[in-house]
Amino acid sequence: MSTQSQTRLPAKSRTILPGTHFHRFRKTVQAVCFVIFVTLPLFDIMRIDLPRQRFYFFGAELWISEFSIVFLTLMFLWILIAAMAMIYGRFWCGYLCPQMIFSETANSIEKSIIRLTNKRMPNAGSRLRRFIAAVAFGLLLLPASVVVTFVFVSYFVPPLDLFHRLLSLDIRTAGGIAGASVTLVTFLDFALLRQRFCTAICPYGYLQNMLKDKHTLLVHFHDPKDECIQCSKCVRACPMGIDIRRSSHQLECTHCAECIDACSGILGKLGRQTVIQYAWGDSGTGSALKTSWLRRIGLRDGKRIAVLVLLLVYATGLSIAIGLRQPVLLRIMPDRITLYSIAPDGRIHNRFRMLASNRGHVQATISLSVADLEGGSIEGISERKTLEPGQSAQVQFDVVVPPSSVHPGVNRIRILADVAPGKIGQQFSETFFAP
Ligand code: SF4
Ligand code: SF4
Repeated sequence: MSTQSQTRLPAKSRTILPGTHFHRFRKTVQAVCFVIFVTLPLFDIMRIDLPRQRFYFFGAELWISEFSIVFLTLMFLWILIAAMAMIYGRFWCGYLCPQMIFSETANSIEKSIIRLTNKRMPNAGSRLRRFIAAVAFGLLLLPASVVVTFVFVSYFVPPLDLFHRLLSLDIRTAGGIAGASVTLVTFLDFALLRQRFCTAICPYGYLQNMLKDKHTLLVHFHDPKDECIQCSKCVRACPMGIDIRRSSHQLECTHCAECIDACSGILGKLGRQTVIQYAWGDSGTGSALKTSWLRRIGLRDGKRIAVLVLLLVYATGLSIAIGLRQPVLLRIMPDRITLYSIAPDGRIHNRFRMLASNRGHVQATISLSVADLEGGSIEGISERKTLEPGQSAQVQFDVVVPPSSVHPGVNRIRILADVAPGKIGQQFSETFFAP
């Protein structure tokens, strides 16, 4: 069988023994991914709350206005995806992607229903059996689509709010219509498209082709001793319906390794090694064990190490930014519509504005005082201003001082803020005008 790749595999790299079990490994990884897919939004581990403009990231409730953290998070995720595509090829597609997990599950369920229908109704015509199997599959797929859509939309809308909308069968509000539309698209996707989505619609496959290079992990057919027995088991096992023997670089190939299991199984029975295996690019040195561990895990050139260092830099920056983040955001600014006013008792007033946002999970309190101004006090705001979680407030207050304590013109003062929880003793340098 001719292949596009003519690179010879070194003997020491042919270490994959007959009877590989990538399928079992992949299904275990997919099960873990399914649990993560469901857990992330339901427990606010990672999701965007569009109505409230919040971004939940591993326990931190970030506000969309916190540009630096949102930017660092998006850059970190983007470089993580790019690094994974560059080093491990389509690992995301074959092992981690929810579309692939649900497509393969839909395939398995559909096959089981067809088998069951054929077994239970041996005397019915094949058309009738196909029809009954299709109806049964559709009846199962509908509630499954509702569940998948619920989890998916929970990444953008609070799950509890979504649950109430679902219970009230809301298809009148914008949120309800969006949920119903996504359910319909999900149903049609898994009824009609499944893996076709990967090659026809999903941009990640195209992106991966741009990011891969001569060291990227791929599934490789290499048969220098002409050991392939042309059984086509690899083709029948392929969920994407392709023939890996034609090329290791087919766009449809998700590097799922089902063909490796198939080939190692059949050739293993004949006492031979598989002729399909994972390899780092066309060099075919994927399983060489006598190379350094860095090369064995895929860090095979400086470019890859540079990308991982960059990833580490963003991860560190993100950790520091989240660590330094204050739960209560506080800003104080002067209100200069009038420079000053004089009360009937002769005291001088300067007006200020406080903007406060409680980005934490518990009630916050703010206490203001004034320094560098003898006899100065704060009026117009309660001694301890409280803010509920998620609440923002804009409050005006006056700094008041007896005329004997200031000199005419500009006086430098400090407004002190004690915030709990958060950074106590915040200082704001301001100016105080006196006649
Ligand atoms: S060719 Fe092999 S690795 Fe590629 S999608 Fe098909 S079974 Fe998976
Ligand atoms: S499963 Fe292996 S031996 Fe059979 S056709 Fe595919 S590559 Fe050849």
